[in-house]
Amino acid sequence: MDSSNLKCLISREEIESTVKRLAADIRKDYHDKNPLAVGVLKGSFVFLADLVRTLDFHHEVEFVRLSSYGSGTTSTGQITMIHDLHVSIEGRHVLVVEDIVDTGNSIAFLINYLSEKQPASLKLCALMDKPSRRQVEVQIDYRGFIVPNVFLVGYGLDYDEKYRNLPDICTLQEVGEEE
Ligand code: 5GP
Ligand code: MG
Repeated sequence: MDSSNLKCLISREEIESTVKRLAADIRKDYHDKNPLAVGVLKGSFVFLADLVRTLDFHHEVEFVRLSSYGSGTTSTGQITMIHDLHVSIEGRHVLVVEDIVDTGNSIAFLINYLSEKQPASLKLCALMDKPSRRQVEVQIDYRGFIVPNVFLVGYGLDYDEKYRNLPDICTLQEVGEEE
């Protein structure tokens, strides 16, 4: 894998300590609630895997998948559910786990969709927040990093399905682009 055009923005060590901080905050609120963590595929799978292994209380994990960027780097306002929940969330404490909130369109769609299913509570944990791109208001209850308006890959995030395996979060420089 050619990594010459990758520049590390958030190191694996920074990610690790931030995941621990988020887990400690989540623990305070959910340790006796058997919450349901809902991971948003595909981008959140690495974050979710690290996060749940830091939670030392009972919880359950489910996944949803929303329509994504395709092979480009900008989102449209048109969101669809590709993979829905297969369990009822009525009366459950639901924690949505997302990799990054960018325009906010995807997560606003999902939160609205889930809230109609009468969960006991519904909160959002996002590893990254790119507020400069926001188009719709989103409440992030547990936030890892605020990031600038750059396209990021690694730690589950892809470009054209590649780079999800990188342990750090990186920017992708175009070939020939100046430092
Ligand atoms: P939004 O609907 O908030 O614009 O973006 C939704 C999804 O787009 C995020 O959950 C994430 O999967 C993807 N996304 C947003 N920003 C980035 C980015 O910088 N890099 C990558 N790889 N995906 C992103
Ligand atoms: Mg995502």
